[in-house]
Amino acid sequence: MGAPLGSLFELLLPLAVCATGTSFLLSFYLYIRSFWAPHHALAPGGNTGNPLYDFFIGRELNPRIGNFDLKYFCELRPGLIGWVVINLGMLMKEVELRDSPSLAMILVNSFQLLYEAVLTTMDIVHDGFGFMLVFGDLAWVPFTYSLQASFLVVHPQELGAAAAAGIVLINGIGYYIFRKSNSQKNMFRRDPKHPSVSNLETIATATGKRLLVSGWWGLVRHPNYLGDLLMALAWTLPCGFSHLLPYFYVVYFTVLLVHREARDERQCRGKYGLAWDAYCQRVPYRIFPYLY
Ligand code: NDP
Repeated sequence: MGAPLGSLFELLLPLAVCATGTSFLLSFYLYIRSFWAPHHALAPGGNTGNPLYDFFIGRELNPRIGNFDLKYFCELRPGLIGWVVINLGMLMKEVELRDSPSLAMILVNSFQLLYEAVLTTMDIVHDGFGFMLVFGDLAWVPFTYSLQASFLVVHPQELGAAAAAGIVLINGIGYYIFRKSNSQKNMFRRDPKHPSVSNLETIATATGKRLLVSGWWGLVRHPNYLGDLLMALAWTLPCGFSHLLPYFYVVYFTVLLVHREARDERQCRGKYGLAWDAYCQRVPYRIFPYLY
């Protein structure tokens, strides 16, 4: 449509600074208006009475102006779509500088676009809308998740066909594990008698729910995180090995998922007690088979 997307490259820093400032302003507005919200509109986790914590986590679940849902808007438009638009801007900048987009840039753009198409939007349902999500949506996701694409504008990479094929394969394997393991568990939780999951081995727990011990969830205790991390690696590999910056996402995401796994493990041990210990004995590795 002729939009000068390539100029986003020069505007990245000022835009990131403005997005950070806007995150503070919007979060203050949300915190203050939440005191007029009806009780049923508040998020259970964001109303501890500690102002700093509640400001950070968010008091109101889905703050709206009329019909306009602020959380939904911020997650989808400046957050996810902002990330895609910045990536495309970097691709356009490459076209301006070098006449055509590089293979590395095309891979990074395609992988991340595919990922967004499958991301679940669980925050929309459970969490309040406070500084953490506002900053995440307006500043963190669009400006840090697009680091690989902006890196490629400044540091062009020669990517041969074999290397590209290898990277596409890693992304494909990651995507396959991510999708298959998530849908296996979701199907098992929705309908354990469904033919696709009914022949899997399970163990009983005292709550009446069962745990899968074969199939994807018998490989490691969080196969979905394994798939996610393989994809994160594939987004970074097109940037080569000369610099640490494009590896920021894969390092950050590994720390995030290792921490999330530990938190989920604690919750599951609390919920399922001895049955969870039996599962851990049967499936000793958490995320990486034979490693972790
Ligand atoms: P998970 O989908 O990993 O679900 C964990 C829950 O699954 C447990 O609490 C338990 O709940 C159930 N469960 C665990 N083990 C078993 C088993 N053996 N059999 C049956 N049920 C089991 O939760 P997340 O929300 O952490 O992850 C969802 C997806 O989102 C993942 O693919 C993850 O990679 C991705 N993600 C992406 C992020 C990003 O920023 N890109 C951030 C975080 C997650 P119960 O028993 O109560 O059903």
